[in-house]
Amino acid sequence: MIPVSAMEPRLIPLEADQLFDFACHPRVLCFNACCHDLNHFLYPYDVLRLCRHLRMPSGDFMERYARIHPGPETGLPVATLRLDPVRNMACPFVGSAGCGVYPDRPAACRLYPLARAVRRCGQTGRRTEHFALLHEAHCMGHGCGQRRSAAAWVQDQGLTPYHCMNDPFVDVLAVKRRAHPAPLSLAEDQLVRQALYDPDRFRTRVLARPAGDPLTASATECERLAADDEALLVFAYRWVAALLQGATRAERP
Ligand code: SF4
Ligand code: SF4
Repeated sequence: MIPVSAMEPRLIPLEADQLFDFACHPRVLCFNACCHDLNHFLYPYDVLRLCRHLRMPSGDFMERYARIHPGPETGLPVATLRLDPVRNMACPFVGSAGCGVYPDRPAACRLYPLARAVRRCGQTGRRTEHFALLHEAHCMGHGCGQRRSAAAWVQDQGLTPYHCMNDPFVDVLAVKRRAHPAPLSLAEDQLVRQALYDPDRFRTRVLARPAGDPLTASATECERLAADDEALLVFAYRWVAALLQGATRAERP
């Protein structure tokens, strides 16, 4: 087990089977403290789950609850939660009873106090995951006597489908770095935003099968994409990767 006593924020590397001591529940004195004043990254799959939970069209959700900006390092558009300045920069979904979207809360909320990085081997294509334990002074959940491993935490927090849907997004970021290091044009930026963060409009586009798109779904694929949100997101990752790689081909002499 990792002893945790320092008051300064710190990240402690953690093996997947290594035990850590943590518990979070409504009786902790810091309840909801971590849902304020945060830089909350939203994966495309987080957006999908939240839209489904709130029964909101994705365009409306993004306008009301999220911001999109160029991501660090790659410049690929990334989404963050829009915080409420009137409520001490609160997450829009937090209330006195806790998280208002708990069954579909984003991956970062599920993972906390862990951090997870995924690396893909360039030669074998195999992904490996690495964990760390984040210890911040405001969080009083450490050292409560409830020990479990990072792997068990992932299981308990329902993170497996999130990791399945989010890890391919990390691959798209790698494609951006490798195949399209230049900033996106305005047109490319709009297309990527729609594919990743506005699945309702992206679905309409894909099913119309417009000429000139980087990737066109077959008639059989269209039937599936019309009804399956997760399949549409996997297609969106491929579509964006093709867009980024196509731009590189077009730039070649
Ligand atoms: S989505 Fe829920 S758990 Fe995550 S920051 Fe907002 S209120 Fe907190
Ligand atoms: S700050 Fe830590 S213990 Fe407190 S509610 Fe958030 S995760 Fe739970």
